[in-house]
Formats: sequence, C-alpha cells, structure tokens
Amino acid sequence: MGSSPSCQSESHKMHMCALKESGYDKKNAAEFKKLTANPRYKCENCGTQAHESENLCKPVKL
Ligand SMILES: [Zn+2]
Ligand SMILES: [Zn+2]
Repeated sequence: MGSSPSCQSESHKMHMCALKESGYDKKNAAEFKKLTANPRYKCENCGTQAHESENLCKPVKL
C-alpha cells in the first residue's frame, strides 16, 4: 500500500520512506532525528538522508 515505488525489501517498514509515510517522523520526531543525524547515505528513491544504509531503499553514499 501507499506510494512507495519499487522497494521489495522485507525491512521496508524500517526505511525512511515508510517511516515518513506512517507519520513516524512526526510521532517520534526525536527518534527519527537520530536516524538522520550525521547522514552518510541518501535514498535514491526519495532523497531522504540517513546515517545507516539499512534505513534506505536505495542507499547511495553521500
Ligand atoms: Zn526512500
Ligand atoms: Zn524500502
């Protein structure tokens, strides 16, 4: 469901795109902020940056 493009990963619910879609970034702003602190990767799908590559659908190094 949702507008997530082509991510087939079973951990997609832990990806930034899915977290944002579920409102996690609003409900758990502090936790979400931790995931995006000192970003090392960004998602090629949505452009979101994250510290860990496992939080992104298509991580590319910054
Ligand atoms: Zn993404
Ligand atoms: Zn994903």
